[in-house]
Order: sequence, then C-alpha cells, then structure tokens
Amino acid sequence: MQLVNNTEWRTDDLRKVFNKVCKKTGYTPYKIVVVYSKGFGNVNGRGGIGYGWVKMMIPGKVTGVKGKATVLEGSIITMIAQVLVHELGHNMSLAHKDMRPWWTIDVSCVNGMKIRRRADAIPKPATDVVMKRHATAAKHVAEWEAKLAMLDRQRASVSARLEKWMRAKTRYERDYPSRVAGTMSRA
Ligand SMILES: [Zn+2]
Repeated sequence: MQLVNNTEWRTDDLRKVFNKVCKKTGYTPYKIVVVYSKGFGNVNGRGGIGYGWVKMMIPGKVTGVKGKATVLEGSIITMIAQVLVHELGHNMSLAHKDMRPWWTIDVSCVNGMKIRRRADAIPKPATDVVMKRHATAAKHVAEWEAKLAMLDRQRASVSARLEKWMRAKTRYERDYPSRVAGTMSRA
C-alpha cells in the first residue's frame, strides 16, 4: 500500500493504524493519501467507489491543545479507524445504504494506538532571555577572574624580584658607602 503523507504526523504510526484497519476489513487499497482536515479534531474521508484509493483528512489541531499537539490518541484514533473502514467500504463498491453508520463501527483493534508528530516538526521551547543573559554574565565573570588570578601571579613574581634587588642595593650601600657614592656621582 502506497502511503502519501502530506502532514507532520509520523508515516510509520499512520501506517500501523491503517494496516490494522485494512487487516480487520480484509481489504487493502493501493493508495492512501493523508492531508489535514479543517478546524479542530475533525476526521473526514473520500473513498473511490470501486477504486482502490482513499483520501483521509485528519486533524492537525487538537481541541484543548495550545499550539501543536504532539500526538493523536483516544477518540481521534477511533474516528480515524471508523472513517477508514467506511471509505474502504466505498472502495469495495458499497453505497451508504449498504453500510452501517461509520460512528457505530467497532474498531477496538486500534485501541491504545497513537499517532505521533514528527520530532523535527515540534517547535523547541524558546530560550528564556534572563537565563541566556545570566549565562553570558557567568562566562564573563569566569574570564575576568582568570585574568585577575594571572595578574596576582605576575605581581607576586615582580615583587620577589624587586625585593631581591632592593636587598642587593642596600647591601652595597651599607658595605661600600664611599665607592657607591662615587658611582652615583658619575651617573
Ligand atoms: Zn461515504
């Protein structure tokens, strides 16, 4: 069976539900085309009379879900299965007078099945701006702390050298005051 999926619902999940229904019905069309229905939670179908194809219109938006729903489940799955059984009836040349109302069709074979939205179609939560700015501030604190620690090490090293040469200078001035005075006057 060819499955043409024009929605963000996962093709493998759609195929599992459709295969279950086809197996129950004992009939598999050559093609099922899946598109979004209008509005919230609506399921519709078109089945070619005596033709082996079905078009399924399934919800993109789910009642009670803000933004993009991530899964179709429960009564929506039941409705999808019932509508598909009905459309497969048309494929098998049945008219409405030959079929029971679609909402009375037993489709317990799909109980518990889910159709998930493709992961790449689910929007990622926006990064909180305060969190982002705090992370930037924390990064700069670490950078400048590292620079300050380096300056502390340089200062300690410079101080040590300065002390060493100050001791030497003081020693020469103490031990050789006249000669040091001579050097200093020539300079
Ligand atoms: Zn019909």
